Amino acid sequence: MRIIDKIYIDGQFTTPHGEETADLYNPSTEEKIGTVRLGDLEDARTAIAAAKRAFPAFSRVTREDRMGMLERLSDAVMARDSELTDAMATEYGAPQYFTSFAVSHAASSFRHMAEVLRDYDFTQRIGRAEVKMQPIGVTAAITPWNSNYGFICAKLATAIAAGTTIVIKPSEMSAIQTQLLTECLHEAGLPKGVFNIVNGRGDLVGAEFSRHPDIAKVSFTGSTAVGKQILRTGAETLKRVTLELGGKGPNVILDDAELDVAIPAVLRVGLMNSGQACIAGTRILVSEARKAEVVDRLRAEIATFKPGAPSDPTVMIGPMVSQKQYDRVQSYIKLGLDEGAELIAGGPGRPQGISHGWFSQPTVFANVTNDMRIAREEIFGPVLSLLTYRDEEDAIRIANDTSYGLQAYLHGKDIKRMQVLADSLDCGRVVINAAPHEPLAPFGGMKQSGIGREFGPFGLEAFLEPKAILA
Ligand code: NAD
Repeated sequence: MRIIDKIYIDGQFTTPHGEETADLYNPSTEEKIGTVRLGDLEDARTAIAAAKRAFPAFSRVTREDRMGMLERLSDAVMARDSELTDAMATEYGAPQYFTSFAVSHAASSFRHMAEVLRDYDFTQRIGRAEVKMQPIGVTAAITPWNSNYGFICAKLATAIAAGTTIVIKPSEMSAIQTQLLTECLHEAGLPKGVFNIVNGRGDLVGAEFSRHPDIAKVSFTGSTAVGKQILRTGAETLKRVTLELGGKGPNVILDDAELDVAIPAVLRVGLMNSGQACIAGTRILVSEARKAEVVDRLRAEIATFKPGAPSDPTVMIGPMVSQKQYDRVQSYIKLGLDEGAELIAGGPGRPQGISHGWFSQPTVFANVTNDMRIAREEIFGPVLSLLTYRDEEDAIRIANDTSYGLQAYLHGKDIKRMQVLADSLDCGRVVINAAPHEPLAPFGGMKQSGIGREFGPFGLEAFLEPKAILA
C-alpha cells in the first residue's frame, strides 16, 4: 500500500493542509494499492504565493542557465526511467510499449525545449519598434491522468524556457507516478518556488488555479467539458489559456492504400494506449468499394492485439483506468448496438480468458454513420467505428463533420496527393502513413479540440507576451 501524503511547494515536500484523501487502484487487478492526501484551497494559494515570490528572480535567469536546468531535468527523469514505467504500469495498467515511450518522450521534452531556447530570438525588430518577448507571469498547468508524465514535463519545460514559474495540478488518479516524478524533478536542484506540484480535486485546486488573479496563464490538457469550465472561470481575470482537449480522429484509408501496411497502422493509432488517447484515430474511413476487404482485414488484424496486464511485454491492450471508465466504454458498446451499427470484432464485456480487471474487448463497429453518437462522441476506450465514403471529397467532408479537430491520419500510396488532402482537414495535425513524431512541431487542436499549441517555438511563444518599445 502506498500512502502519498506530501505535496511539493517552494522546493520542498510538505504535508498538505487539506485532509481529504482519494483511493488509488491497480486497474489490471481492481485492487486498492494506495491513498493520496489531497491539497485544498489553502494549499493551492500557498503554491501560487511561492511561484509568485520566485518569479522576479527567475525571469532574469540567463538563457544558458535555463538551458542547463532543462538538461538536468531531463537527466533526472531518465535516471529513474524503469521505476517511472513500473509506476505507470501499476497505476494505469498501460502496456509496456506505451509506458517506455511515455517516459522517454517526457524526459526528452526538456532537451527539445533547451534546443528551442538556444535558438529563440527574444528581441525582434519590427519597423522602428523593438519587440521583446517577455515571460508571461506565473503560470498554472492542469494535466489529465492519461499522459501525466508527458504533459507535466512539457509544460514545466516550456515554463522554464520562457523564464516563468509554475504551479502544477496533476490528475488525482496519477499520484504514485506524480510522487516519483516530483522526486526526480527535485533532484535537478532548481531554485525554490520555480515549480510547485499540488495533488487535489479539479473543482477545488484546479478551479483555484484558473481563478486566482496572480496566475497569468493556464495551460490545460484534459476533456473539452473541463476546458470550457476553465475558460469560464478564467474569464474574470482574462487568463491566457492553452487548452489541449479531446478528439475523435479520422483514420482515412485511401483507395490506393496497400492494406498489408495500412491496416496494422490504422489499428495501432486507433487503439493507442487501449484507446485512452486524445489523438486516437477512432473513426476509420474507407471507400464503399473497398469496405468488404477492409472489414476482413480488420477482423484478422485486431485478433493480434493481445489484451492483458502490463507484466507481459507482448500485450497491446491494457485495462480501462477505472471502474467508471470501464462502465462508460461498456455503455458506448451497448449504444453502438442500439444505434444499429454492426459488430465486426469484440463486443460487450471483458476479452476471452480475462475474468477480472477493467479490461474491455477491442471492438470495431461497421455500418456506422457519422450522425451516430458512437461516431461523434469521444469514448476513450478501444472502440472504433468504420464509416464509408463515396470519393475523396466525401471522405474529407465526413472527416471534418465533427466538433473535434485534433489529429487526423491518412493512409495511401500517393504522398503528394495526401499532402494536398491534408490542407482540407480541419485539425491541428495530419499524420501521413504513420510518419514518426516530430517533437518540435506544434501540437494542438482546432474547433473544440482546443485553443493554442504546445511544443517547439509555438509552445514557447504561448508562455511569452510581446512588448513593443518605440524610441
Ligand atoms: P478531465 O478533463 O476530467 O481532467 C483533467 C484535469 O482537470 C484533471 O487534473 C482534473 O482534476 C482537472 N479538473 C477537473 N475539473 C476541473 C475544474 N473544474 N477546474 C480545473 N481543473 C479541473 O480529463 P481526464 O479524464 O483526466 O483525461 C482525459 C481527457 O483528456 C480526454 O478527453 C482526452 O481527450 C483529454 N486529453 C487531451 C490531450 C490533448 O493534448 N489534446 C491529451 C491527453 C488527454
